[in-house]
Amino acid sequence: MSEELTEYQGAATMEKITSLAKRRGFVFQSSEIYGGQNGAWDYGPLGIELKNRISANWWKEMTRLHDDIVGIDAAILMHPRVWEASGHVENFTDPLVDCKKCKTRFRADMIPEENLAEKKCPECGGELTDTRKFNLMFKTHIGAVEGEANTIYLRPETAQGIYVNYKNIIQSNRMKIPFGIAQIGKAFRNEIVTKNFIFRTCEFEQMEMQFFVKPGTDVEWFNEWKKRRWAYYEKMGVKMDHLRWHQHGADELAHYARDAYDIQYLFPMGWKELEGVHNRGDYDLSRHMQFSGKDLQYIDQENNNERYTPCVVETSAGLTRTLLMVLSDAYDEEKVADKGNDDDWRTVLRFHPNLAPITAAVLPLMKKDGLAEIAKDIQNDLKEDYSVDYDQSGAIGRRYRRQDEAGTPFCVTVDYETKDNKTVTLRFRDSMEQVRVPVAELKSRIKKEIQEYKRIK
Ligand code: ATP
Repeated sequence: MSEELTEYQGAATMEKITSLAKRRGFVFQSSEIYGGQNGAWDYGPLGIELKNRISANWWKEMTRLHDDIVGIDAAILMHPRVWEASGHVENFTDPLVDCKKCKTRFRADMIPEENLAEKKCPECGGELTDTRKFNLMFKTHIGAVEGEANTIYLRPETAQGIYVNYKNIIQSNRMKIPFGIAQIGKAFRNEIVTKNFIFRTCEFEQMEMQFFVKPGTDVEWFNEWKKRRWAYYEKMGVKMDHLRWHQHGADELAHYARDAYDIQYLFPMGWKELEGVHNRGDYDLSRHMQFSGKDLQYIDQENNNERYTPCVVETSAGLTRTLLMVLSDAYDEEKVADKGNDDDWRTVLRFHPNLAPITAAVLPLMKKDGLAEIAKDIQNDLKEDYSVDYDQSGAIGRRYRRQDEAGTPFCVTVDYETKDNKTVTLRFRDSMEQVRVPVAELKSRIKKEIQEYKRIK
């Protein structure tokens, strides 16, 4: 075995994931031909499929499977007063220091305390500036005239679009407390440090749900949502020993939060936040009442028209960050033979079949003798239900490897026997086992395999 291969531990590193993501068209650097744009990434053909499946999975869980949650899609541009009410204009800041020598910029809360105390750069030992507050909101102007009066922000979170519509939704959909509103959408933050690929970016997507409850029941609901979100990841089929809870200490609590827990995932660079579950109390609606002058109290018609300001339990996950989690979680390298060369190893993305960008690949063993035509027919038949790839070039072993690397759970191989007895080979990505299946049963067999899928490694 070569030197390089002995390093293979099957462990995902950020470099390997970033390189695979580019090579296979999951994620590209934004504006790469111009040298790239920091903090922005483009999702390629496989990446957009994966992102769409992750968001559809979350949407189904949070809306269709919960009778008491409805969806919304609010605008990115909102009235600037929203961000005064929310506290973002005043408080959505990171502490920032610069090195006077090497000019590197740091988030003060992300460098060792002794460096801050001694004002010494952790990179070059140069002198650090004083800590300054830096607001993370992207500010621009709307309309032809530039000026303070026309200031508008790119939303730094999707949640506010939910609060400002809470009354509309109660009225239009006759919602009764407790109920929730879910939203998936873009958010923008002028992050000081963007590293680790798509982990922390300036443009990203969030999947947020705000659950409105009666004051006094917020702690109970907060615990309930912690349980539900944990169960969600279990159902998603990710490595549960790579997940843990982290409770925010008093110094970490956001200005609005009564209590907050993060679900952290063991990314290749360590344990990092994946999702936050927050008890926001009645902060949000109280502030919007104060700033808008509108009455946002709930009137409980089943309880003598009792009026109160609801409390909010929020679950806030990053969609693009979840995609990085799913990629890291799925990444594996496996020794499949022992002939002493590179071909002994395969890179395989062990996506849950519900999330895999391509569900099945149809591969004719040969292009000739009518095999390609049969394979095309099979592809067309599967297409209605699944996303299907067709590949007729190269040796079959190499084609399997290509599909493994894209995370395709099922390969369907059409060979000469198919012509004789109308059966195909169904090959499973994880075990590499192959079974013979009648063409007529292929669809139902794939459906069954997806329903019963259990990750073996
Ligand atoms: P941090 O303190 O790490 O900057 P946060 O605690 O402010 O993050 P939240 O405001 O709670 O993050 O955002 C909710 C979720 O949105 C996060 O758990 C994360 O998944 C996602 N998210 C937040 N900021 C970014 C970003 N810059 N890039 C990608 N995803 C992000």
